[in-house]
Amino acid sequence: MNLSISDLSKTYSNGVKALQNVSLDIAPGMFGLLGPNGAGKSTLMRTIATLQEPDAGSISFGEMDVLKNKDGVRRLLGYLPQEFGTYPKVSAQDLLDHFALLKGITNRKQRSETVARLLKLTNLYDVRKKALGGYSGGMKQRFGIAQALLGDPQLIIVDEPTAGLDPEERVRFHNLLSEIGEEVVVILSTHIVSDVSDLCSSMAVINKGKVVLEAKPLEAMKLLEGKVWRKLIEKSELDDHAERYQVISTRLMTGRTQIHVYGESNPGDGFEPHPPQLEDVYFATIKGYLKV
Ligand code: ADP
Repeated sequence: MNLSISDLSKTYSNGVKALQNVSLDIAPGMFGLLGPNGAGKSTLMRTIATLQEPDAGSISFGEMDVLKNKDGVRRLLGYLPQEFGTYPKVSAQDLLDHFALLKGITNRKQRSETVARLLKLTNLYDVRKKALGGYSGGMKQRFGIAQALLGDPQLIIVDEPTAGLDPEERVRFHNLLSEIGEEVVVILSTHIVSDVSDLCSSMAVINKGKVVLEAKPLEAMKLLEGKVWRKLIEKSELDDHAERYQVISTRLMTGRTQIHVYGESNPGDGFEPHPPQLEDVYFATIKGYLKV
């Protein structure tokens, strides 16, 4: 089943246009929604999760009208929100059991089997009796995924799941996400490019409420082939380069500054060609150099 979003718009009462005619067609598999803070990702995620209304537009999941059939969508949905509150004094096992009951798994044996399976999948089984207040950030996120997977959802939304995780926790979280079935639509909203390059077969970039790129990561990188140029400069040369070139990104490297610029042809001036990475695609799109 595909998730189709069509001409979705939302303006908050303070006048912020969080979504402007957003259209996306999302097939089963892992889909990355990439954008800077404030781009509108959470607004879109909450709207798909039936937690808030758009001003205009429509969303369908297979044959289901998402905006009209909220109960139907909620039965198929697993949602890990950006801010995932837990009850610090309750154990993972007890809270997951409680969520499973809320999700409608009323049979006790079936519930305890489901809870045990998800705790094992998320690598929390050994600490299942520990209070959630003592969990690390990564463990809480994995618990969040366990609750999102209750009831075998067909549509899974994870909103900024790796912000605040240390690198090891991030890898573990990625491995967990990559094990979710291929036939399920998984939308991963993030501002971290490597989340998408590690995991997603399709992606979109959203900026200021608009979709500015919808592509497969490998194809998106091909769009930039031969157009990314790299050079190491001194920090003092940065302003001058920023004036003269279309700067994609700058990064400190062993005390010097590595600069990537966009150019249809070799700018000379000591630049050398650089194979495009997804990060180049992302920044070139956000900055408007790459127009698709
Ligand atoms: P992201 O998840 O990409 O960071 P959001 O969807 O949270 O983006 O926010 C998009 C824009 O809408 C931002 O400018 C944000 O400040 C604004 N915004 C989000 N929620 C509200 C709200 N409830 N009321 C007013 N403005 C909001």
